[in-house]
This record gives sequence, structure tokens and C-alpha cells, in this order.
Amino acid sequence: MHIAKKLLIVTIGKLKLTNSLTRKKELFEPINSPKVGMYVCGPTVYSNVHLGNLRTFISFDIINRYLKFLGYKVRYVRNITDVGHLLDNGEDKISKKARIDKLEPMEIVQKFTNDFHNVMKTFNVLPPDIEPSATGHLLEQIEMIETLLSRGFAYQANGSVYFDLIKYNKLHPYGKLSGRKMADLINQSRTLEGQDDKKNPLDFALWKKAAPNHIMKWKTKWSYGFPGWHLECSVMSTKYLGKQFDIHGGGLDLKFPHHDCEIAQCLGSLDKEPAKYWMHTNMLTVNGQKMSKSLGNSFLPWQLIYGNHKLLDRGYSPMAIRFFMLQSHYASTLDFSNEALNGSLKGYTKLANGIRILKEMIYPKHDALNVNAALINQISKICDDCHNAMNDDFNTALTIGHLFNLLKKVNSFYSKQLSLTDINQATFNRMKTTLLTFTEEILGIKPEKNINGHNLLKFLLEDYAKAKATKNYKKVDLLRQLLAEEGITINDMKDFIGWAYNE
Ligand SMILES: [Zn+2]
Repeated sequence: MHIAKKLLIVTIGKLKLTNSLTRKKELFEPINSPKVGMYVCGPTVYSNVHLGNLRTFISFDIINRYLKFLGYKVRYVRNITDVGHLLDNGEDKISKKARIDKLEPMEIVQKFTNDFHNVMKTFNVLPPDIEPSATGHLLEQIEMIETLLSRGFAYQANGSVYFDLIKYNKLHPYGKLSGRKMADLINQSRTLEGQDDKKNPLDFALWKKAAPNHIMKWKTKWSYGFPGWHLECSVMSTKYLGKQFDIHGGGLDLKFPHHDCEIAQCLGSLDKEPAKYWMHTNMLTVNGQKMSKSLGNSFLPWQLIYGNHKLLDRGYSPMAIRFFMLQSHYASTLDFSNEALNGSLKGYTKLANGIRILKEMIYPKHDALNVNAALINQISKICDDCHNAMNDDFNTALTIGHLFNLLKKVNSFYSKQLSLTDINQATFNRMKTTLLTFTEEILGIKPEKNINGHNLLKFLLEDYAKAKATKNYKKVDLLRQLLAEEGITINDMKDFIGWAYNE
């Protein structure tokens, strides 16, 4: 199994991905192949996971799935931020929610971690291999602060510890991931309230002294306080993946300052660039406008499922939403509109119908003497196209296009416009494996309605065929109507009765 998988990496071409650090599409060469270490910044669990986060986690789910499909031994780490993510006024997001709801901060953390996991499961996002939390790694965070202090990249001020960016920037350029220059940043910076302990307004907190009424705090030699948000990711990524690992990912909004700060902390304490490849998912828009709470055009995943928002005409199933998201490349913006969602729903249903038909399709026993070489070549080429599209920076949009080309062939075999005896068994097997593997294993689109081989449906279709044969049109119409209400369309084929989910 392992040898066969290893060969897969070699035989199906080379994977390329866009590295945010170099701004170039690069050949993916893991540091310690076939092992791959991937870290993705997870949610801050103080509210329901929003749609932008869902897109990010679906995008990295595809990357995780495809790398595993290629035979890489992936260790995927995605953290839970349960402390230290501060609002502009310096208040911890989780503490604030706990204060408003009169709950323990850990009750808030548990509630929204559960919600997050439910949403991920609903959208068929595979769990990471390790899901560490910030509060579970306080000792390691304190250790990294001590290292940074001893190396002169951090300083204490009034019970807090800050990262010294001016000093760091003399050795390593700060802001290279986001492309920002230190001089410009200094000009743009302003001192926020309560941050005047800093030598420089740009310096960021590694440890914050807690105000007397602050709930989430721990005792250290500096003060009763809590860690800064950027620190946890540097600590947990390198603890589980080593000083340098392959891929670090997250939403585009995390590139600066979060990811530039992570690089500074790692270089400052471990002398290593943390990740070889940085990957960022792009933002969401609604009808061409940025999605934001203040514009009233942002909706949550469950609102999209139930159509529970003034901008939505209807609800969409989780797999139709997943399919919709995959129709854009992860690095492009994704625009939500009723038209686009409806289009995707149709596309998804077509795909689901094709997959159902294909699963039932069996290669007939015959002497394959007169195979159609051109048709065999066409099918082989489409299968290659699917691999090439995924190898080209995980281009799911292009992959889906090729899968639909394959689906056209499947439908032609089904409707008997083409005969399966025109192709050999090996081509049939490849067509079936490619379509099923790419749809279900790699894109993670699973059947939502599973009524294959449903006895009642079989009985009704037989009854329909009999009614048709005896010209009992009243019954024919009634059966058509009843099944349509259950989401099934009857298809009168040349010499059999077919069916499909309503499109
Ligand atoms: Zn992070």
C-alpha cells in the first residue's frame, strides 16, 4: 500500500503551489518527504464560526486530502485559540463574551469549540491530526518568551513582555511575508490606549499583565497575566512539526500582523524560518461587496443552510455549499449571490446524479475486439486533466470542469448513446475510479441523499413501467407527480426506466 502510494507521487506529475512568501508558484518539495507537516491557524472560539473561516478550513481540507491522496504522510495541526486574542481596547474576546453571558470563560470556549466541530463535520471537513489549544500550552509559551528575553529580542515593561521589533529588524527584515517595510510601518503606527509601556508602538505583546478584573490569567515571574495571541501559533506549530515544517496556512487577513509576527518569534527564538511554504485563502464578498457585519451582509454557515437571511432566496444543502466554494480557486475572492448559489446547486445535483449512476454501472462481459481508440484516448486525457488541475496549485475549479467532461461520457454510456463495449475494461475502471476518487475522497463531496437500491423506489418504478405498458396514463402521471414531490425525476430511457434527483 505504502509503496504503491509512493509511486503515485512520481507517476502523476509534480505538484505546484503558490508560496505567499516568495509570491511565486513553486514546485512542492517537502523537507522530509514523504512526511509533510502542515499548520493552519484555527478559530478563536468566542462566537459561531463564520463563513470566511469555513472557506479557509474547507480549502485546507482539500489540500490535506490531496496530499494524503498523493501518498504523503501528512501531519496536519490546526489550533484552537482559547486565550489572548484581544480586541482593540485590549479586552480578551473570550473574556468579554464570558462577562456578557455571565459564564465561565471555559464554558464559552467549550460551547463554541463544539459548535465549530459540528460545522466542520456538517461540511465534511476532516479533523486535523492534532488540535492543540493555547491554554494547554502555557508552559511552552512562557519558555519561548524566556528564550526571546535571553537573546535580547524581548523586554519587560511594567509586568508585560514585548517583542522588540526595532532590534529584531536589524538582523532580519520584519514584514517580508506581507511585503511591508519597517520604516513605513513606523510612520503609520499609533500608540493605542494602555500600550504606552512599549518602547515602540509596533512592538507586540508576548505576555500581557492582566487588569485586576481580568478573569483569564496565570502567575509568572513577570505578573499575573496571559500570553499574546501571536505566540501560541509559533509555539504549537514548532512543538508538533519541528523548527521548520512544510506548509503554514490561514486566511489572508492573518498575513499581517499575525503571520509576520510568527516568523519574527520563530527566527528570534529558534533561528529558523518556521515554514517553507506559506499559503493564504482569499476573502468572501456578497453581490460584489466585502462581507462584513457592519454592512449587514454577512451570514453564518447555518443561515446559509436554512436560507435564514434577508439576502438569501432559499437555503442550500451543506454539500451544495461546499461544491459552490470549490468552484473558485482558494486564492481568488469568492462572491456569494443567489444566482451563483442556484447555479452551483444545479451543478452539484448533476454531479450527485452522475455519481449514483456510475456506482451502479458494471462493465459488460464481452470480447473487446472493436474498441474505439479515439474514445479511449479522450477518456484517458480527461482523467489526466483532473490530476494536472489539482497539481496546479490545487485548482478545484478547473478539476470540477474536467469531472463534468467525464460525467458527460458516463451519461452517454448510461443513455446508450455510447456503448461500454467501445472501451476496454481498464479505461472503464480508470474513468470510474477517477470520478469517484476525485469527487468523494479529494473534493470531499459525499452523497447527501442515499436511496440507491431503495426497495420502495424500485417497486414504484416497476409499477410505473407496467402502467406505461398498459397505457394507464392516469397512474403514470400520478407516480411521476408523487416521486417529483419526493425529489425524484423519472426518466423514460430507450429501453428502461431511469431516475435522477430533481435538478
Ligand atoms: Zn495563528
